[in-house]
Amino acid sequence: MANVESPAGLILDIRHSTFDTGIMQCPICKIPVDIATAGKKGSTFPFCSDRCRTIDLARWLDGKYQIPVLPDDESHGGDGEPDER
Ligand SMILES: [Zn+2]
Repeated sequence: MANVESPAGLILDIRHSTFDTGIMQCPICKIPVDIATAGKKGSTFPFCSDRCRTIDLARWLDGKYQIPVLPDDESHGGDGEPDER
């Protein structure tokens, strides 16, 4: 009766088994990628192909992965005032 698993623990378990099997999913299209290709010449790891790597790079350049510093572009009051209604 002591086998309680939290959702977070379950996610960690999935990640662990990913490396255990040597198969990882392409971050872009989710196609299984063989970890054994990592570090090899011309490898696109962790992407399945050069195309997906380019897509990922384009996302970076597009600023989609930027960390939002200040959500200041919509002028919602601003100074942390509780906005209840
Ligand atoms: Zn891919």
